[in-house]
Amino acid sequence: MTKRKLVVIGGDAAGMSAASKVRRTHKDWEIIVFERGRYTSYAACGMPYFIAGMVESADHLIARTPEVFREKQDIDVKTLHEVVKIDPGKKRVRVRNLEEASEFWESYDELLIATGASPVRPEVAGIDAKGIFGLSTLQSGLDVFNYIRDHKPKKAVIVGGGYIGIEMAEALLARRMKVSLLDMASQVMITMDPDMGKLISEYMRENGVDLYLGEKLDHFETKRGKVSSIVTDKRTLDTDLIILGMGTIPNSSLAREAGIELGAKDAIRINKKMETSLAHIWAAGDCAESFHLVAEKQVHIALGTVANKQGLIAGENISGGNMEFPGVVGTAITKIKDLEISRTGLNEKELKDLGIPYKTSTIISSTRPGYYPGTEEINVKLLIEETGGRLLGGQIVGKQGAAKRIDILATAITARMTVRDLLVLDLSYAPPFSPVWDPLQIAARDLL
Ligand SMILES: Cc1cc2nc3c(=O)[nH]c(=O)nc-3n(C[C@H](O)[C@H](O)[C@H](O)COP(=O)(O)OP(=O)(O)OC[C@H]3O[C@@H](n4cnc5c(N)ncnc54)[C@H](O)[C@@H]3O)c2cc1C
Repeated sequence: MTKRKLVVIGGDAAGMSAASKVRRTHKDWEIIVFERGRYTSYAACGMPYFIAGMVESADHLIARTPEVFREKQDIDVKTLHEVVKIDPGKKRVRVRNLEEASEFWESYDELLIATGASPVRPEVAGIDAKGIFGLSTLQSGLDVFNYIRDHKPKKAVIVGGGYIGIEMAEALLARRMKVSLLDMASQVMITMDPDMGKLISEYMRENGVDLYLGEKLDHFETKRGKVSSIVTDKRTLDTDLIILGMGTIPNSSLAREAGIELGAKDAIRINKKMETSLAHIWAAGDCAESFHLVAEKQVHIALGTVANKQGLIAGENISGGNMEFPGVVGTAITKIKDLEISRTGLNEKELKDLGIPYKTSTIISSTRPGYYPGTEEINVKLLIEETGGRLLGGQIVGKQGAAKRIDILATAITARMTVRDLLVLDLSYAPPFSPVWDPLQIAARDLL
């Protein structure tokens, strides 16, 4: 019998999780991973902290190199190889060797698309100037790091106030730059409600970030090929460095050209087993959709948490198993300097758009009892169904020890618990960790 062959496109979180899972199940399969970059299994999430200077070397962001995959797991990782076409009829992919500029066909029995997502790059004048960066792959993080080392920028403007923008604001402040952040929305972190977003904006301003909210990027001006200023619909800001944090778009063009169905935001449509619309072709991670358990619809959420799980489940099912990914509730966490931020479920705008009647409570409490050293402020907002009290969403902004509490809410929302269930949940308590009424339960109490 000939060996079965798995081909994976993309060598990071989703792709390598799947390849490793298949290898654990089938010692005899041939597994080939094509990765167009130089690196595999890197922590893109760690890049802001590497750029900030908190991580000694970019090597520390790499969990496993191509050599280790080859030697320890017999996974044939081919870096600097880009898949340029999928031919589902003949079950083969066209691969470009980027070093040799040559092309060849590679056949597959099973194919996993794990191509990730790319940062949005607006088509405005000056966008191709030196000094304008989006973050996605490890190489993109290295490019920013090297640019800062070589050009010593003094002023930076971040376009977009989502979590990448916020984390990069912290990183560039740490590199002693004058940091401005521009967003066309009237708040930062539009996945939060405006009242919670305001707490973040106030903290950012107090900590030296100049915020320009409700302002739209128009174009960039350049001097000798380098970005020299950013022009908005209201002003011109001089700058030496631009970071684009304007969201991501799934890398789904290979799939679309192969006739594979796309869904939310053009992400690859998959079922709960990670199967695409074509037989023997699977997809996982940032290039693919997820099902939102509260909104009850397909969404595109580009997060490492989801990519790793989808990759594992794809690997299990490709191996002949039967595992399902039920979906996501939109849980995310970040921080800027000492301010922690997290959210889960749906926010007010999303609930209004879906026509779901809701009630909210917002409380200010403390992360520990007032008498205990190091106690910090925590702001909690809960969103529940107007009748029945089912938990629909939650947001937390506070200092050290605040934001990770969101995981309790994510669990409660996934389990379809009500605000009463949350109130009487047997959570842990001792003064070094929490007040006797956990802030989440104080917010729940306010809704009864
Ligand atoms: C700055 C930053 C911070 C982040 N922080 C967090 C965080 O704190 N928490 C969190 O949950 N998530 C975070 N994320 C998101 C997280 O990194 C991604 O969700 C995760 O990496 C997605 O994994 P993936 O395998 O789907 O895609 P990717 O990691 O994007 O990997 C896809 C790979 O496919 C390769 N590829 C694409 N097309 C081809 C092709 N045609 N041929 C060959 N190779 C190809 C790419 O080079 C890439 O290496 C962050 C992302 C960034 C950029």
